[in-house]
Amino acid sequence: MYLADEAWPDLESYFQSESLALVPLGSTEQHGPHLPEGTDHIIAEAFARRAAEETGYLCTPTITVGVSPHHRQFHGTMSVAAPVFRDYVESLTRSLAEHGIDRVIYVNAHGGNVEHLREVGRRLRDAEVMYAIEWMWDESITDRIQEVFETPGPHGGPKETSLIQYLAGELVHEDRIEDARDGGLREFDESSGRVHGARTFYDAIDNTDNGVLGDQTDASAAVGEELFEAALDQLCQLCEWLAAQPFEDLLPKEHV
Ligand SMILES: [Zn+2]
Repeated sequence: MYLADEAWPDLESYFQSESLALVPLGSTEQHGPHLPEGTDHIIAEAFARRAAEETGYLCTPTITVGVSPHHRQFHGTMSVAAPVFRDYVESLTRSLAEHGIDRVIYVNAHGGNVEHLREVGRRLRDAEVMYAIEWMWDESITDRIQEVFETPGPHGGPKETSLIQYLAGELVHEDRIEDARDGGLREFDESSGRVHGARTFYDAIDNTDNGVLGDQTDASAAVGEELFEAALDQLCQLCEWLAAQPFEDLLPKEHV
């Protein structure tokens, strides 16, 4: 069920029987020369809407701009300040609580949103309003991603390229994929950009000239479909798990 398509009497019957909602969130930021700026929110919305279709739970409209100051040197990147984002997401989530929603899954596809969504989830849980958790598709199938790609890359790499080839292939510039690999940073791991243990970079442009990491030539729509279906299955199972928990069990524990 997609909230924005429904009339209120039909939502009333949903809220009488269910108390879970999926909230998709992404970003609007550069994803290299070959992918659209909407990559993250296109991915998040696809997961949330498909999971809602499969399970019958409610999907809200998508939050399409997130916290992306680290991509601001590239044309078109949009971003909101972290405190504004936190307050906005908290307020939006509290509006769902007015209708009886007491558990939310933030279906998130932008790494820069993670810490802020965790903070919002903590605030709502401490206030005993809501149990809200953050979910990212690639975190749910890490082993499979390691098997499929030699260099997955955390941003604009073959992971995201495959998903957009599958979900919105008409938006991918296939003729720029080799240039994306050659003009970016192919190998990126925990030691990249570190000096004597300190992380020395703040912005994507500090590491990569064209904004991307990983080897995009390993990407394909077929791989994207396989990864999407595998992660979707995890999300649907998470919905069922969360819906089955007694609300008291989701609240903070007493002091010892
Ligand atoms: Zn992304």
